[in-house]
Amino acid sequence: MSDNQTQPQLIDRFGRKVTYVRMSITDRCDFRCVYCMDEEMTFMPREKLLTLEEIVFLLRAFCELGVEKVRITGGEPLVRRNVDWLFNELGQLKSTTSLKELTLTTNGSQLPKYAESMVAAGVDRINISLDSLNPKRFKELTRTGELSTVLAGIDAAKKAGFKRIKLNAVIMKGRNDDEIIDLARFAIEQGLDISYIEEMPLGQVSHDRNESFCSSDEVLAKLQTEFELHASTSSTGGPSRYYQIAGTNSKVGFISPHSHNFCESCNRVRMTTEGRLLLCLGQEHSVDLRDVIRRYPGDSERLKQAIIESMDIKPEGHDFNIKEQPVIFRHMSVTGG
Ligand code: SAM
Ligand code: SF4
Repeated sequence: MSDNQTQPQLIDRFGRKVTYVRMSITDRCDFRCVYCMDEEMTFMPREKLLTLEEIVFLLRAFCELGVEKVRITGGEPLVRRNVDWLFNELGQLKSTTSLKELTLTTNGSQLPKYAESMVAAGVDRINISLDSLNPKRFKELTRTGELSTVLAGIDAAKKAGFKRIKLNAVIMKGRNDDEIIDLARFAIEQGLDISYIEEMPLGQVSHDRNESFCSSDEVLAKLQTEFELHASTSSTGGPSRYYQIAGTNSKVGFISPHSHNFCESCNRVRMTTEGRLLLCLGQEHSVDLRDVIRRYPGDSERLKQAIIESMDIKPEGHDFNIKEQPVIFRHMSVTGG
């Protein structure tokens, strides 16, 4: 690797280095979680999606500009056809670019099929969504998901040997807030970490998000009635706070996108399914990189220049407000969670 590749070159107007890209590779999903999608969804026409080859081309450019961490998400990334080819290609970027960590966020349904090949391809860590341990409720929350399949996926992931597995739970009042402690107990038993996520106002869904909103502070207070939590100093440069659960191997995290205090250390950008670079999850500032890729096929210098120039429009902070929903009309499945 040349020195050039190890020097971060993506620095915005506020001096923040961008070293982390999250990329949604499909807006499709086999689940229809109530906080994420409508029951009836119209998905993007296939020609609008970046092809797998375009995704590799794009992420290689980022990783040659100093990006060290890539997270693949969706929609459900593992329902995209030939996704194993994509991960093999991305895994190789770890030996040719500044990429250090390849990660995946999944609903777990396809892990019995893919867990082993993901580890073989070089996926270091994965996040698996799990909002309930009650099969009937799991079905209500995901509309089309089966708890048993996801539990089998978690098992497969543990056997496959990822460096770390984290569960993600979106907590909603009156829907699953009575499972906060049970979900933590499950994570501890399985030797996994767990993050609790505040519901974000992304896209129109069928319930009133004001009524279901459960703050991280409320979740933390509930956990403290049962567990001793020690604040961890580790920071991801994102909207997460972490605690070690005393006497266990598990950490608990809180993802609180409503709080503004992480914006100043933000190190990330997002890529949408159709190749739009979003400089901030809560703002519409974006650059159409698909246009650059399709207009100048194979011209990675031009693509890198467009990425470097985009740093000038990364905003200082986001602007979520749960009371004015939806703030942003994009669904999470398009921007990637
Ligand atoms: N399908 C995969 C999954 O469910 O893990 C990856 C994509 S999903 C959009 C990524 C994460 O975003 C999941 O943990 C999901 O629970 C979370 N999510 C989706 N919609 C959300 C919302 N409106 N507010 C907060 N989290 C949300
Ligand atoms: Fe699918 Fe993930 Fe959205 Fe649930 S949260 S509908 S699993 S993309």
